Amino acid sequence: MTIPRTPGAGDLAALRRRYRVERERRVRPDGGRQYQAAEAEFGTYAADPYAGAVPEREPLRDTVDVAVVGGGFGGILAGARMRQQGVERVRIVEKGGDFGGTWYWNRYPGVHCDIESHVYLPMLDETGYVPKWKYAPGEEIRLHAMRIAQRFDLYAHALFSTAVTSLTWDEASASWIVATDRGDSFRATYVVTATGTLSEPKLPGIPGIKDFKGHTFHTSRWDYAYTGGAPDGGMTGLAHKRVGLVGTGATGVQVVPMLAEDAGQVYVFQRTPSSVDVRANRPTTARDVGADHDGWARERRDNFLRIVSGEAADRDLVADGWTESAALLEKLLPSFRRQGDRQGDRSAFEAEYEAADAAKMNELRARVERTVTDRDTAEKLKPWYRYACKRPAFSDHYYPAFNRGNVTLVDTADTHGIERVTEHGVVVGDTAYELDCLIFATGFSVGVSGVHSGQLPVHGRGGTQLLHAWARQGPRTLHGLTSHGFPNLLLMGSLQNASSVNFTHVLDEQAVHIAALVAAAEARAALIEPSRRTEDAWLATLAKDAPDHAWFHAECTPGYYNREGGGRPNGPSAYPHGAFAFHALLKRWRETSMDEVFRAKVRAR
Ligand code: NDP
Repeated sequence: MTIPRTPGAGDLAALRRRYRVERERRVRPDGGRQYQAAEAEFGTYAADPYAGAVPEREPLRDTVDVAVVGGGFGGILAGARMRQQGVERVRIVEKGGDFGGTWYWNRYPGVHCDIESHVYLPMLDETGYVPKWKYAPGEEIRLHAMRIAQRFDLYAHALFSTAVTSLTWDEASASWIVATDRGDSFRATYVVTATGTLSEPKLPGIPGIKDFKGHTFHTSRWDYAYTGGAPDGGMTGLAHKRVGLVGTGATGVQVVPMLAEDAGQVYVFQRTPSSVDVRANRPTTARDVGADHDGWARERRDNFLRIVSGEAADRDLVADGWTESAALLEKLLPSFRRQGDRQGDRSAFEAEYEAADAAKMNELRARVERTVTDRDTAEKLKPWYRYACKRPAFSDHYYPAFNRGNVTLVDTADTHGIERVTEHGVVVGDTAYELDCLIFATGFSVGVSGVHSGQLPVHGRGGTQLLHAWARQGPRTLHGLTSHGFPNLLLMGSLQNASSVNFTHVLDEQAVHIAALVAAAEARAALIEPSRRTEDAWLATLAKDAPDHAWFHAECTPGYYNREGGGRPNGPSAYPHGAFAFHALLKRWRETSMDEVFRAKVRAR
C-alpha cells in the first residue's frame, strides 16, 4: 500500500484497516504469559558476567542513616542528594558488581542512550562533566554514574553483588531492618527503594531453549569472553560464526549493525519491526551545548522536559527526533485528557491527530524504502502502527545493515515469533536456521522487581505488608513517594508520580524532593508519614483529570506498552498534567505544605 506524505480521509481509513490487520496478526491469546523469566533453570541468562569472583564478607549488623535499594541512577541520585543535605551514612545496596543499574547490565555492542546525553546524564552542573557525543555510548554513561558515586562518597558504605530480601519497620527503634541475601540484617532510619522497571531479562517461553548446543545469552549479559571485542566492536570471536538475534526493539536495533560488521552470518528474527528514525549522532563540544555558565545543563534539561511534556517553550535547545515528535504527541496528549471531546466528535480529533500521525509514520516507512535495496526485506521492515505504539528507535546504521550480504531478515509475524529452538538452531514455520550462537534481545519483565510486585516484601507499622495494605483499594501514596503505615519509606518510580522519556530527570527531581524531606524530618525529629486524608487528597488530584488512553493502547500492536495487546486500563497511575507541571507542583508543596507529611515519633516504652 502506498500512502502519500499528507494523507486524505480515504487514505486514513485504509491505514486504519491495515493497522487493525497487522495488530490482529500479532495478538496472542497467552499475552504476557508467552515469556519466561531468566530464573531457575534459565538463571544462567541473568548471571552477572562482569563482577568476577564476588569476595566473601561478614554479614553486617550495623546502623546507617539511609539505606537505598538499587544502585542505578535512581539510587545514586537519591544518595547524592541526601549527601548534599548533610546526611552522613548512606548505604546503597545493589545486585550488580558496581553502580550503574541498567548501564551496568546493558553493555551490548552498540549500546548508546538515544536521549541526548546533555539532558540524560544527571548532575552535569555539579560534576563539571560535559559529555562528548550528542548521544553517549553506554560506557561513558556508566562511568558518569560511577563519577557521581565517587564525588558524593557513596562507595564508602555501598554493598555490591547483594540483593535486599526484606524491609521491616521496627517501631521500638523507629528504624527499618534491612535483610539481604548475603545474611546482612542492618538498621536504617530511612529507606529509599529505587529498583527500576525494566531490570529482569526475559526469554520467549518456547520449547527447546535448553537443548541448544551452541552458545547463547541475553543482550543485557553480553558475553565478550565468547564474542571478543567490546561495546564499540571488534568481535573477532564471531568472524566465522552463524549468529541469530531474536528481537528488534530498541536494543536489537542497536545490536544488528555491530553484528553485521563482525559476524560471519547474521539472522535477525523479527516479529514486529521498530520505527527507526534519524539518529544523527555526532561529537559535541562544550561550546555546541552552551556549557559556559553555571546551570547550563539544568536549563537544557528543563527545556527538553518542557517540550516533551507538551508545554510551550520559546526555543528548542536539543532539537532532535524526540522534540520533533513532541509536536505530534502534543496533538494526542490533550485528547487523552479530554474524554468528552473524543467520544463526542471523534472526526475532528482524527482529522488533526491521525493525519499528523500518518504523515510521520509514512515518512518513517519511506525511510526504509529509500535505504533498503531488497524490496521484500524493505516491506518487512516497515512499521504498521501509530507512532509511539511501541517505543520509537533511532539509528542511521540499522537499515543499511540489511543491504549486506551476510545479514538475513527472518520475519516471524505469521508464527507469533520464533516457535522452537533445537540443538542446532531456531525453527520458524517449516524452516530451520542452523546457528553457532543465539542471542536474545527479547527485553525485560515489566513490574516484577521491587516493592510493587512483592519480590521485595515490605512490612510496615504493625507488621502490615505494603501489598496487603494496597490490595483492596490499590496503591495509596502521597506523590507516589510516601505511604501511610510505612514511616520513613521513600518510594522512587513513576507510580502516582510522573514519567518522561528522560527518566533520569524525573528521578533527579524525586531525589531532590526526598532528600529535602529527610533533612526536614531530621530538623523536626519527626517521622515522614502521610495521613490517610493527605493520601485521599492526592488520589483525588490524580483521578480528577485521569487520562483516557485505553483506546490508544487497544488499537496498538502488542508489546510491553499495552500489556502484550491486552490493553492498558485507565486509572490514576500518574500525575495527569505531565512531568514538567508535576515538578512545579512538588516545588510549591515543599515551600507551602511540607509539614503535612510529618508526624511525631512515639517514644518506645
Ligand atoms: P523490547 O521489549 O522493546 O523488545 C523485545 C523484542 O523481542 C521485540 O522486538 C519483540 O517482538 C521480540 N520478541 C519477543 N519474543 C519474541 C519471539 N518469541 N520471537 C521473536 N521475537 C520476539 O526490549 P528491548 O531490550 O529492545 O528494549 C526494552 C526497553 O529498554 C526499551 O523499550 C527502552 O525503554 C529501553 N532501551 C533504551 C535504549 C535507549 O537508547 N535509551 C536502548 C535500548 C533499550 P514484539 O515487538 O513483536 O513483541
